[in-house]
Amino acid sequence: MPHPNYAIDEMISAKSIAARIEELAREIRTEFADTDKLVVVGLLRGSFVFIADLVRELDLAVEVDFLEASSYGDGMESTREVRILKDLRGQIEGRDVLIVEDIVDTGHTLAHVTKFLGSRKPARMKTIALLDKPARREVDFKASYIGFEIPDEFVVGYGIDFAQRNRNLPFIGKVRFIDES
Ligand code: 5GP
Ligand code: MG
Ligand code: MG
Repeated sequence: MPHPNYAIDEMISAKSIAARIEELAREIRTEFADTDKLVVVGLLRGSFVFIADLVRELDLAVEVDFLEASSYGDGMESTREVRILKDLRGQIEGRDVLIVEDIVDTGHTLAHVTKFLGSRKPARMKTIALLDKPARREVDFKASYIGFEIPDEFVVGYGIDFAQRNRNLPFIGKVRFIDES
């Protein structure tokens, strides 16, 4: 296996992420205090660490479900054409739904997913993304809750991969390519 020609510089520490999730959980708990059982929908695969930490801070009755939308594949550029690869297992009609995403980048993924799930007539549907790159937006989309706004950098860690590596880093790091010439 060749040594990858990039380094990872820490951008957001595990401690900062944990502190921010506590704050976000407080806001979500208030917003959904009257909900019987909140459906928390994680977008596979990048949100799996975030959703695990978030639901454990929520202190609400939750149902956890997952949806997979097509994304970057193993590259670094969005395909812009979003397809649903794996649908929910449960019903959401008339229910309160929170969609959990790792990053809002161009906005195509969440714009498509909220339209797709919105057509099933949930009672309330909100979105949360750990990271937001507003400078990259191509469609008008704003998440209900955002962990951190970040600049236009390619990031990894805390569930987020580069070519299926680095999802298991406990922090968010920025990829720095090393020129070997
Ligand atoms: P959007 O549809 O908003 O352009 O893209 C959202 C998806 O693109 C995210 O869920 C994530 O999978 C991927 N993405 C966006 N920015 C990054 C990044 O900096 N690193 C990685 N690994 N994936 C990203
Ligand atoms: Mg994603
Ligand atoms: Mg990916």
